[in-house]
This record gives sequence, C-alpha cells and structure tokens, in this order.
Amino acid sequence: MTSLRARERLVQRLRESGIHDERVLAQIAGVPRHWFVDEALSIRAYEDTALPIGYGQTISQPWIVARMSEVLVAEGPRDRVLEVGTGSGYQTAILAGLFREVYSIERIRPLHDRARETLSRLGLRNVHLHHGDGLEGWPRAGGCSAMLLAAAVHHVPDQLRSQLKVGGRLVVPKITPHGQILVLIQRADEDHYPETDLGPVVFVRSRKGLE
Ligand code: SAH
Repeated sequence: MTSLRARERLVQRLRESGIHDERVLAQIAGVPRHWFVDEALSIRAYEDTALPIGYGQTISQPWIVARMSEVLVAEGPRDRVLEVGTGSGYQTAILAGLFREVYSIERIRPLHDRARETLSRLGLRNVHLHHGDGLEGWPRAGGCSAMLLAAAVHHVPDQLRSQLKVGGRLVVPKITPHGQILVLIQRADEDHYPETDLGPVVFVRSRKGLE
C-alpha cells in the first residue's frame, strides 16, 4: 500500500473516531508520518498508535495529534503557536499547515536535531525549533495565540502561561490524582484562565532541564 493510500485510510479512521475539522484532516492526509519514525517502524506509521522514537519518548498517536490541533484551531487567531515537546516533529508539521508561525521546543538534543532534519526535508519555512526547557517558554518571548504541551504536567508554569495572548488557547495533558486528562485553558483576560476538561489521555511526562 502506498503511503498516500495509507494516509487516506488513517484519515477515514480518524473521522470515524470523531475528528471532524477538515483543515486538520487535510494536514493528516498531507504529512508523511513514516518520515518521522525509524525505518524499521515505518510499516506501522499509519496505524493510529504511538510509536517509540528513542530516548524513552514516543511519536504521539495520530488521533491525539488531530484532537489537540482541532481544539486549537476551533476558535481564535491562528498567527503564532508554541509547542512544548517537539519529539519527532510530526505534530509540529501538522501545526505548520494550520498556523502562520510555529515555535517548538525540545529538551533532548538528538530528538531536536532529528526533527530539524525531517522538517527541513519537508521544506517547511514557518517552523522555528529550539533546544531548551519548554516549560520556561520561548526564550525571545512574544505572545502566542495558541500553545500545545506534548508532555504531561501537574500544572502549567506561570512563566509559560503568561506568554499566551488574551483570547488565546492552550491545550495540555494534566496529571491529576485520577490519571491524566486533556485540558483546554483559555486566557479570558489579563488574569483569568478558565479550564475545560476534554477527557482522559495518556502522555509521557514532562521533565525539567536538558539532555
Ligand atoms: N508530538 C510529539 C510528542 C513527543 S513525546 C511527537 O509526536 O513526536 C513528548 C516530547 O516532549 C518528548 O520528546 C520529550 O523529550 C519532550 N519534553 C518533555 N518535557 C519537556 C520540556 N520541559 N521541554 C521541552 N520538551 C520536553
């Protein structure tokens, strides 16, 4: 099966499991996920499952990539998005088709380097990658209209949250006493951040510092 056919099947599957945003589905149909995993795993790249990418990390399951993207683009401006946890760069590539500029931070150097290679092979010109601790936010801070955390946290650090523009949306897997849940945080005004529970999820945990 060609990767194009395989991607169409994946899109079909995502539709059946509740993803409806056509802009997001078009990105899933267009981005070659097999470029973001080891060659040995490329045969499984279009299954709706997370796969290992080394260093104890995984490329996120397509459904969760689509779901988080859908939540971010549902409302509000789509100028600048910040992603914490570049990993393979797959979610980054999807966001690049949905936002004007994508800023993405990864703490593990070899993953950052590999994502840079893959994303430049795709020819994406609106992606900016940084090796650093994403929980500290983007180093040359400027407001973002959207943020996405790809690793679970107990809470979103104030320093990071404050980089979200008023009216902006942040999607994050939060660790609670009852397991992880996906949460949408909106910045209603200068100091109000109402939260919406979007249901249970499973993510790798975020870690501080660099590797
Ligand atoms: N969406 C990515 C998910 C990768 S897994 C993909 O599909 O490939 C989550 C990533 O977050 C891992 O690569 C991990 O190293 C990274 N990460 C965890 N804590 C981080 C932090 N504080 N700053 C930056 N990256 C972090």
